[in-house]
Amino acid sequence: MILLGSTGSIGVNTLEVAKKFNLGVEVLVAGNNIELLNKQIKEHNPKRVVVANKEDTNRVNHSSVLYGQEAILRVIEESNSKLVVNALVGFLGLRPTLSALKYGKKVALANKESLVACGAFIDTNKIQPIDSEHFGLWYLMQNRPIEKMIITASGGAFRDWEIDKLKGATLADTQKHPNWSMGQKITIDSATMMNKMFELLEARWLFGEGRYDAIIETKSLIHALIDFKDGSTTAHFANASMQLPIAFALDGKMQENILPHVDLLKIGSLEFREITTERYPIWSIKEELLKNPSLGVVVNAANEAAIEKFISKEIGFMDIAKTVIHAYEKFDTPPKSIDDIFMIDNEVRSYLKNEHI
Ligand code: NDP
Repeated sequence: MILLGSTGSIGVNTLEVAKKFNLGVEVLVAGNNIELLNKQIKEHNPKRVVVANKEDTNRVNHSSVLYGQEAILRVIEESNSKLVVNALVGFLGLRPTLSALKYGKKVALANKESLVACGAFIDTNKIQPIDSEHFGLWYLMQNRPIEKMIITASGGAFRDWEIDKLKGATLADTQKHPNWSMGQKITIDSATMMNKMFELLEARWLFGEGRYDAIIETKSLIHALIDFKDGSTTAHFANASMQLPIAFALDGKMQENILPHVDLLKIGSLEFREITTERYPIWSIKEELLKNPSLGVVVNAANEAAIEKFISKEIGFMDIAKTVIHAYEKFDTPPKSIDDIFMIDNEVRSYLKNEHI
């Protein structure tokens, strides 16, 4: 396979699963973590390697090292592998997703921003999402009339904070996730609840039109629920580890044990909470956005631009949602083509660069 984002949280887990299934790695793509990349090269012996920056290439212990975003597209085009695991973070992952599909490869997609921004123009039959909620929904899906599909959220780092204190939350605060250890950006997205909004959009593109919603389950042991028309509700339980959805995306058969079962007696009790707009203001556009899912490109671009500003301390934590909602209200023309996606993404970012919301 080709693994994009090998040094990230999903990338590292993917290599663990690849070892378990004895899968070969043709290409490794990483950003700046050259030390970890060198360890991965030693263990997985890829034919080619790509890093983000030219100045890092001579630190990489490999005879075929390329750099930059064009190189990622080139290695996808020139590779023999039929599977691309896209674990890059952000809009940067979209071109590689489109390129992998163009060259007839199967895409195991952790990079949810690809679907959020461009779902209307992506053939999801060729995509296997790497996300525990969508894996959970897929597991529960049966040939019975469905009323609603529900995914769960942990509530992120601030679920128990006093609302008044959220304004002063720092980047370090956002990273104290109660249940999962993940990359920096998705952990911020969990704190704002943007991550769950993205997953609802992903679900919409993967499973089609229908009713979708999310609730908080504080232990992250239930990942998805389905309300069937007859009044039954089923739930997917699994311990909080990305290795299960990754194994499914890589192997597809799921005939061997990947995780220990959830021990209900040890858990004792579960707690569910509503996602409120007071704590998670981004939730106020959820219903509208689900009706206009192709505006995901606007929301994604605004979110990335706002997160950059938050990291560089130009704006506060609560300004992230404010910025996204502002952009969502301003840029209301849906894209009609893939070219439009890149144009809108660019417009939103340029606008927010100079605008103080
Ligand atoms: P990380 O930040 O941990 O990893 C991102 C990866 O992308 C790293 O390998 C990083 O390299 C690489 N990268 C970043 N910029 C570049 C660049 N310009 N060129 C090449 N490589 C680059 O993120 P996660 O693994 O947490 O998340 C990846 C994706 O998966 C996201 O879209 C996220 O939403 C999604 N996801 C993550 C989950 C999780 O549990 N973590 C769960 C479900 C979905 P380096 O570190 O070397 O700089």
